[in-house]
Amino acid sequence: MSDCLFCRIVAKEIPAEIVYETGRTLAFRDVNPQAPTHVLVIPKEHHANAAALAEADEGLADEVLKSAHAVAAQEGVADGGYRVVFNTGLGAGQTVFHVHAHVLGGRDLGWPPG
Ligand code: 5GP
Ligand code: ZN
Repeated sequence: MSDCLFCRIVAKEIPAEIVYETGRTLAFRDVNPQAPTHVLVIPKEHHANAAALAEADEGLADEVLKSAHAVAAQEGVADGGYRVVFNTGLGAGQTVFHVHAHVLGGRDLGWPPG
């Protein structure tokens, strides 16, 4: 989708600091980090949100999740604890409608989130 920000990052039309990649997923640093580690993991294929992805392609949903955990390990935050978040829908604060897992770590993360 040419009007989708994250599809444009996949297409290398917009620069991003890529930290991890598999055949079907891409992970890059959030431009406005909320923690020392804040990486976004996306499927290269466009799906609007986590529910749509799980419905359309459970293998790809699995690859996104595995990539998120691989990123946490690579970033060195796996032992200290980290959070994987899919904001889903406007009310949850989703602003980019290409599904993305936020991988957050490197500081104490409060619960429940604000
Ligand atoms: P959402 O609010 O949809 O869950 O998360 C979207 C995330 O994308 C936000 O954390 C925001 O900072 C990040 N973001 C928005 N535009 C860009 C961009 O152009 N590049 C990168 N790397 N992150 C972006
Ligand atoms: Zn997209």
